[in-house]
Amino acid sequence: MEFQCPYCGVGCGLYIDEKGKVKGNPEHPANRGDICKKPLYLPKIYEKGRILKPYIKTENGLRDSSWEEVYEILARKLSSLSPDEMYFYISGQLMTEESYIINKFVKGFLKTNNMDSNSRLCMASAVTAYKLAFGSDGVPCCYEDIDDADAFIFIGSNASISHPVLFKRVLNRRRKEEKALIITIDPYETETARKSDIYIQIRAGTDTALLNSVLYILYEKGWIDYEFVFKYTEGFEEAIEEAKKFPPDVASEICDIEVSDIYLLANIFRKSKKLISFWCQGLNQSVNAVMKNLALINLHLATGRLNGKGCPFSLTGQPNAMGGREVGYLSNGLPGYRDVRNEEDRKFMENFWRVRGIKEKPGPTITEAIDLILEGKIKLLWVVCTNPAVSLPNLNKVHKALDKVFLVVQDAYWNDTTEFADIILPASTLGEKEGTMTGSDRTLTFCGKFKEAPGVAKPDWLIFKEMADQMGFRGFNYESVEDIFNEFKETTKGRLCDISSLDYKSLPARWGRRWLYEDLKFPTESGKAKFHPVTLQIPKENGRFIMITGRLKNQWHTMTKTGKAQELLKGEVPPFIIMNPEDAKELNIQEGDKVTIVSDRGKTERIVRYGNVKRGHIFAPFGYPMEFGNPVNVLVSDRVDPLSKEPDLKYTGIDIIK
Ligand code: SF4
Repeated sequence: MEFQCPYCGVGCGLYIDEKGKVKGNPEHPANRGDICKKPLYLPKIYEKGRILKPYIKTENGLRDSSWEEVYEILARKLSSLSPDEMYFYISGQLMTEESYIINKFVKGFLKTNNMDSNSRLCMASAVTAYKLAFGSDGVPCCYEDIDDADAFIFIGSNASISHPVLFKRVLNRRRKEEKALIITIDPYETETARKSDIYIQIRAGTDTALLNSVLYILYEKGWIDYEFVFKYTEGFEEAIEEAKKFPPDVASEICDIEVSDIYLLANIFRKSKKLISFWCQGLNQSVNAVMKNLALINLHLATGRLNGKGCPFSLTGQPNAMGGREVGYLSNGLPGYRDVRNEEDRKFMENFWRVRGIKEKPGPTITEAIDLILEGKIKLLWVVCTNPAVSLPNLNKVHKALDKVFLVVQDAYWNDTTEFADIILPASTLGEKEGTMTGSDRTLTFCGKFKEAPGVAKPDWLIFKEMADQMGFRGFNYESVEDIFNEFKETTKGRLCDISSLDYKSLPARWGRRWLYEDLKFPTESGKAKFHPVTLQIPKENGRFIMITGRLKNQWHTMTKTGKAQELLKGEVPPFIIMNPEDAKELNIQEGDKVTIVSDRGKTERIVRYGNVKRGHIFAPFGYPMEFGNPVNVLVSDRVDPLSKEPDLKYTGIDIIK
């Protein structure tokens, strides 16, 4: 049976054979049979730590419940609250059909936009920047573009461990094309950096200075593709005005890199045949995130690097963040790349769902919702398939909110968030249900069912269908998940993400053309792509070091699944940080010492490992659940990018105490 990998956004097609072994699907365009280590252990962890039945919290702890009882309590509860008093927090790990039905239930029938997804911690900045630059957040190119490119920039991305199959494809390309170059820009010399030809060790948070400076050089040297700029873009002059504030000597000081590195990057933009720049959370999880994204896109526009000449390629962190974007599961979205702020879009969905009164104003984002819970304005929080008790920033504050709110947790596995729950709903997981997911390059994959769910767990789509029935909502009479897919695809007809001609049998298939903007006409008002003037903002933080966070090699997110396979934990526990040996020496810290890391918001303990992280920085893997002590996100601030509202998870001032 075929399915899509439930981990990173590469979206590898996998299958499970008769002996229960997981293998790469050679027919799938995303991975062509390749696979990394993580999904190999799926069969081992399926049954471990599962939630088998509904539970209700009482004064004496959890008691068993039934679907009938929890549906009844929840219907009563939702009916008693105003739309502003409830909130739904869902996940890029849900199937597209599941995100669609939850969105319909919440925005169409409960008439609230109080809904967000964990993509807020991941893709929100890339989504905002793509929309500002191109008018839509579809990724402009696809994986095939790797196979004839000759320059690859990884900035704020450790793709070698976070998107390993994609990175292997890049390495294969370099093997075939001796002139191909891989460049990594990161404060920590990650595995990706070690496998690159050029590594630029930048100071955390300063990317816009570097990228503006590259634009400055391109302009000063006359290396701009003016034909492209005048024909297909607007806003060039304003972007250049801002870039002029960052001549190479100024940027080199801010970023603490060599002037020659900035020239080298400008030359790569000027000379390479085809250049793809990949980025991920290193750019997205920042208070300056949208600007960082736009600064990189500006360079592609300035040198005409789209389609056959290259692409700014944002890597998605989750397996179905793209599908979630297609159904509009963030607080402002509606299906088919629509937006609640657009009257035509609201009208279309109201007619389609046969409802009235979809709200115009986007709902609060998840970090805003945490504040509203603490202020007593949101009274019910329903979390589906994600673990905010470990993954959100400023966790001490989050835990207070989870304690205070009436919390519903719908999940396949016990995790740190279920500890706070008032009602727990057992969900089935991949392989126990059908549905579709979309990977980073817009390829949809059908995920088949190959086993029964344990206990009385149900697919997430069915839980929301039955809740809608319980509340007397019309329009949820689906007999299968495929009915939901067929309904959703109608909403995409004539839209950029048109999948109306696809069905389950035609998958895997990619929506849009190979190059989304092949004719260089963009879905903006003017039809042109837009440059944006890009500013630099570095937050003020106390502490001797800046802590940046990132992934472990074989773990995924908060380890709810991967943490259950001993083979995947090898070398990754006990929790550690990476310190520069020179910094460690100054504090008399040896490799293997246990240290306390302290910020203005909290503290935790970690073992020290040495590595080539920039002086004055430490690298801390995120995602260790509470059983390993305080997660590093207790230290992290909950300030957000002003445009994308994505939290600044990659810039935390800390001190280290031996
Ligand atoms: Fe899964 Fe990503 Fe590994 Fe592919 S690269 S098998 S999608 S974790």
